[in-house]
Parts: sequence; C-alpha cells; structure tokens
Amino acid sequence: MKKQFAIIGLGRFGTSICKELYHMGHEVLAIDKDEKKVEEANQFATHAIYADATDEASLIKIGIRNFEHVIVAIGEDIQASILCTLHLKDLDVPKVWVKAQNSYHHKVLEKIGADRIFHPEKDMGNRIAEFLTSEKVLDYIDLSADYSIVEILATKKVNGKSLIDLDVRAKYGCTVLAIKQKGKVDVTPNPNDPLHQGDIFVVIGNKRDLRRFQEGAL
Ligand code: ATP
Repeated sequence: MKKQFAIIGLGRFGTSICKELYHMGHEVLAIDKDEKKVEEANQFATHAIYADATDEASLIKIGIRNFEHVIVAIGEDIQASILCTLHLKDLDVPKVWVKAQNSYHHKVLEKIGADRIFHPEKDMGNRIAEFLTSEKVLDYIDLSADYSIVEILATKKVNGKSLIDLDVRAKYGCTVLAIKQKGKVDVTPNPNDPLHQGDIFVVIGNKRDLRRFQEGAL
C-alpha cells in the first residue's frame, strides 16, 4: 500500500531513506535547508522543499501535519534536530523517527517524545563487527543489547546429524526458528531430518549462547 513520508535532512542517511522509499513506490516529501540538496532531491522524491525545519511556521506551511510518518535525519546540528522533533510532536505528527548523534542526544529525543531513535553509524559498526568475527554469520537482527536473531551457515560439522543430535536448547539455550535448505525455508523442521553443510540456521537467543552454538555445533 502506498504511504506518505516526509524526510527532513538530506545527508547520506536521509537521502538513502528517501531514495529507497521512493523506489518502493511511496510518496516522499524531502526537506532541507540547503537549496542544492533540495534541487538534487527532485530526482528521487515526489516533492522536494527548501525549508528550515527548526521554524515551526515553515513546518506548518509545508503541511507537515498531514504526514503520519516523518523522519528527522538532521545530523551534526543536534540543537536543530531536537527543536525540529519538538515541533513535530507539538504538531501531533503520529510517528516521528529521528537519527541520533550520541547517547545524550538520544536521551533528549526520548524525553521529548521521539517515537523511534536511530544510531545508524553505531548499528552499522556493530553489524560489521559481527560479520568480521564470524564468516558463518550471514545476517542478524538485534532484538536488544543481549538478544538477537541470527542466520548462520552450517559447515560440514553437521553432516550426518539431525536437530535432535545437536540438542540445541539443552546444550546451548537457543532456539532454531527455521532452517533454509536449497533456498527453501522450513519453519517447522523435522528434528529427525538429516542436516547438511550449506544449510542455513535461523536461530534466536542470547548473543553469548548464539556464539557458543555457532562455534560448537555448526
Ligand atoms: P549523514 O551522515 O547522513 O550524511 P550528517 O550526520 O553529516 O549526515 P548533516 O550533513 O549535518 O548530517 O545534516 C544532514 C542534512 O540536514 C544536511 O543536508 C543539512 O543541510 C540538513 N539540515 C540541517 N539542519 C537543518 C534544518 N534546520 N532544516 C532543514 N535541514 C537541515
């Protein structure tokens, strides 16, 4: 279903979101106080507007209140990001998602009612570190500081074994959600079926347990 989004701040982060949403077929309004960025954004946004998002009157004039979802991607100018978020919440925008620069910025954004707060550089750093430390980890989603869902590639260690033999819950304290074999996802894998090198395990658990499982069983 086609949705409407407004993106404030067209740095690398805001621009990527803008392009992706636009390519997905959504209606995207791009806003920046840099005229050159606004001009460029006409190629990958439904509308691009030049405005200072710290000015409440400008936000009202743009019609920001009609947007259900606004992403504040103002980076370095923390004061501007906070002020803009404050206006958006005062104007009753239902979903205000904001990029934070650091933990202090995050705290303030939380206090003033930002609905979701991102730390793209930190998140990407964590992801890269996770991939660097294990070639078997194909992808992962962080559920909290301690828990994740991970996709792990099985090595020849699993050949000739079944899920029962691996005894994942008892030995490692994590749960296998699905197994991908030859491109097919099985969300109710038969615990007696043989496992093979190249199978992909989708597993949920504590990060420490997931690491033990990945190193010990796969
Ligand atoms: P990235 O890492 O995503 O490239 P950044 O963290 O370096 O971004 P900035 O370049 O500081 O972030 O800001 C992103 C964009 O936000 C810039 O294009 C800037 O012009 C815009 N911006 C900053 N303040 C405002 C404001 N008050 N109103 C509208 N746009 C603003």
